[in-house]
Amino acid sequence: MEYRKLGKTGLDVSILSFGASSLGGVFRPIDENEGIRALHVALDLGVNLIDCSPFYGITTAETVLGKALRGVPRDKYVLATKVGRYGEEEFDFSAQRVTRSVDESLGRLGIERIDIIQCHDIEYGSLDQIVNETIPALRRVQETGKASFVGITGFPLAIYPAIMDRIEVDTILSYAHYSLNDTTLAGLIPYLREKDVGIIGASPLSMGLLTNRGTPDWHPATDEIKAGCAAAAAFCREQGVDIAQLAVQFSLRNRDIHSTLIGTANPDNMRRNIEWLDAPYDEALIEAVLEVLAPIRDKTWQTGRPENN
Ligand code: NAD
Repeated sequence: MEYRKLGKTGLDVSILSFGASSLGGVFRPIDENEGIRALHVALDLGVNLIDCSPFYGITTAETVLGKALRGVPRDKYVLATKVGRYGEEEFDFSAQRVTRSVDESLGRLGIERIDIIQCHDIEYGSLDQIVNETIPALRRVQETGKASFVGITGFPLAIYPAIMDRIEVDTILSYAHYSLNDTTLAGLIPYLREKDVGIIGASPLSMGLLTNRGTPDWHPATDEIKAGCAAAAAFCREQGVDIAQLAVQFSLRNRDIHSTLIGTANPDNMRRNIEWLDAPYDEALIEAVLEVLAPIRDKTWQTGRPENN
């Protein structure tokens, strides 16, 4: 496993990291023990960054992750979780709620310190509140030692400069914007580098779009994007290759992204995802897949408040 410095945090993180939303059964009902094994496969193969949220499985993912981490030495992993999102439509970025949320997460996770505490999907809230209330509250939490760094996450790329022009953050987590079908995060990299933030990418499989299983019901992509990605998956099958392999390899090629989170509660898939990092990179085949995806490349969807998109 290769490691990179996560921007100004100075943390050394594995280039592929574990997305624990899978442990909350977000994509399908899961066998808890399988999920725990998936995490252990990842840790055994050198993954050290784990991302979770109270929202995933409405606290289930944090609880299962807490069980999975019991007995694992604390210096073996960097743990990121979130505050502010508690349900599909439930958001609360108030200082009081996010401060309590940190304590709740520590309890479920069974640890005494969160490495990175992130505001979850801030486009659903008021960015003024994030700047004036939420981040200052998390800085106070940081002073108590319950969290080491403060980050923000969300889908529209516009939220990052909208926040970071006004207040300092340590990390950002951008998902589904650096994958075979959408590479728009690349345009924001110069700005992020200038700010020296830790850059966490997520969803190299575009939350299932770039898999043979396809997407769960809640997936927000348009039918056009889903059909375009399904055509690319079919093309890969004809070539005898799993589109997931090419998708992982493509996303991980970008060295400006410090770590890329992938989610699975299947130990075999986790092992495969990590082994693909060392597999030959078939440039010609990837070009051919990008060609199939051309009609929908960089097409996206809106999330949260219209003014934040
Ligand atoms: P992903 O692109 O990693 O895709 C996950 C899906 O792909 C799941 O259905 C999984 O079973 C499947 N999969 C994984 N490996 C596979 C393989 N080898 N073969 C076939 N299918 C495979 O998307 P994700 O899970 O949404 O993102 C990863 C993580 O990033 C999340 O768990 C979460 O921690 C983080 N994330 C955060 C935010 C946010 O903060 N707003 C949003 C999205 C994701």
